[in-house]
Amino acid sequence: MYSINSIKNLRENIQGEVILPKDENYEEERTIYNAMIDKHPALIVKCRDEQDVKKAIQFARKEEIEVAVRGGGHNGAGLALVDDGMVVDLSLMKDIQIDPAKQTARVQAGCLLKEVDEATHEHGLALPSGIVGTTGVSGLTLGGGIGYLSRKGGLTIDRLKEAEVVLASGDLVTVSETSNPDLFWAIRGGGGNFGVVTSFTFNLLPIKNVYAGPMFWPLEQAHEAMKFYDEITKNASNDLYGFFAFLIVPPGDPFPEHLRSKNVCGIVWCYTGPIEKAEEVFKPIREFGPPILDFVDEIPMPDLNGMFDDLYPPGMHWYWRAHFVNELTDDAIRENIKYGSQIPSVHSTTHFYPIDGAVHDTETNQTAWAKRSSRWSQVIVGVDPDPDNAEEVTAWCKNYYDDIAPYADGGAYVNFMMEEGESRIKASYGNNYERLAEIKAKYDPDNFFHINQNIEPAAVT
Ligand SMILES: Cc1cc2nc3c(=O)[nH]c(=O)nc-3n(C[C@H](O)[C@H](O)[C@H](O)COP(=O)(O)OP(=O)(O)OC[C@H]3O[C@@H](n4cnc5c(N)ncnc54)[C@H](O)[C@@H]3O)c2cc1C
Repeated sequence: MYSINSIKNLRENIQGEVILPKDENYEEERTIYNAMIDKHPALIVKCRDEQDVKKAIQFARKEEIEVAVRGGGHNGAGLALVDDGMVVDLSLMKDIQIDPAKQTARVQAGCLLKEVDEATHEHGLALPSGIVGTTGVSGLTLGGGIGYLSRKGGLTIDRLKEAEVVLASGDLVTVSETSNPDLFWAIRGGGGNFGVVTSFTFNLLPIKNVYAGPMFWPLEQAHEAMKFYDEITKNASNDLYGFFAFLIVPPGDPFPEHLRSKNVCGIVWCYTGPIEKAEEVFKPIREFGPPILDFVDEIPMPDLNGMFDDLYPPGMHWYWRAHFVNELTDDAIRENIKYGSQIPSVHSTTHFYPIDGAVHDTETNQTAWAKRSSRWSQVIVGVDPDPDNAEEVTAWCKNYYDDIAPYADGGAYVNFMMEEGESRIKASYGNNYERLAEIKAKYDPDNFFHINQNIEPAAVT
């Protein structure tokens, strides 16, 4: 274990901070988004720049301590922390440079989605990312990145042009189609397995406002609603996105009193086509049912991306499960409705995020993200603010996951998984796993970066 002197040296040599268990802010700094995770790192290194990251990695190698990497701290499985090891915390690295002419953004690794949204929106631009603004850009991007603009512009990794990475050797390298292309392939979906990414450069989309928001239907209409949703999105242009959900209507504003605390199904829409055409596109949708709630209207893109931020503040207990889904058969729909009617708490839900449209324009072997043929990435979350309810929401989530497994398409989005073991990771990467393991062996042969959805280095022959 490291000495007081070596910590003193590290402190003096970096621009950022070193936080130890005895420090006043240790409890605050070791807290992450999911309150179900309670890990105690030996030290937290809050890096200010790439050089700090290099020094932190060199320190950990020399002192032989395990390393976890923290971007936004949202990971459900708590992979941003490690007991008794070092956390390389990137949350102070917040620089964002927009080039409006080239429609690109260079984003440092500590940025949250909402910070990128605000910066890009000022220039009438947007990055396809996720649906909650407090999520970290880093972890979301490295796992793939799915959200409202997926059908229009692909996954977040499909917009990635370049990244800077500190490797297990401590070297800082640039990765792109032309510089270390194998590593560029691997970080687009392969998670934090290959090094610490310190910045990302993205190609943006020219999107400012969208026609978007939620619509609900009664649970009694859920079967027909899912069928209708399946049909309408199958044949829609990439301008129309909607994720299907089973939920309990939150018991407060802006929801009408007669719907509060009711189990319903719903779709959160995002239309990116010409605004003057929106009413016409939504005419058949509004005629179905009709919906018991319709909050769809023109809104700025960051408002849509932040719509759930107040409902899901940090500090609740989360248990996650996920599947890729390609077909909504009658049996699958019945099983989903069964669990939709048994949702154990107002924050627990399931979402079917579309991953068709532009996501399918990239071949499965072009990036590490392996499911370019499924239509949805389904997530089931058991969530509650009260630790006493954690067991109940977890049981609902696990049972739901097991019972719909026969209707799923194999594997899951790694960013929606808990620590579920090697076979689940392999299933999620499919035919890309072998290449990932070879690239891991080249850049991180000792599996130094293993606090993640881990890809074991291939054996060298
Ligand atoms: C409320 C909520 C909503 C979400 N919504 C979406 C969504 O709409 N779309 C979506 O795709 N995902 C979504 N997610 C999942 C999200 O993508 C993952 O939780 C992701 O891990 C979050 O990234 P982070 O930087 O906040 O994570 P962290 O917990 O900080 O990091 C997670 C892991 O990523 C790796 N990592 C992070 N940063 C780096 C880095 N710079 N270099 C190397 N490795 C790194 C490490 O292995 C780390 O352990 C959501 C999560 C939550 C909690």
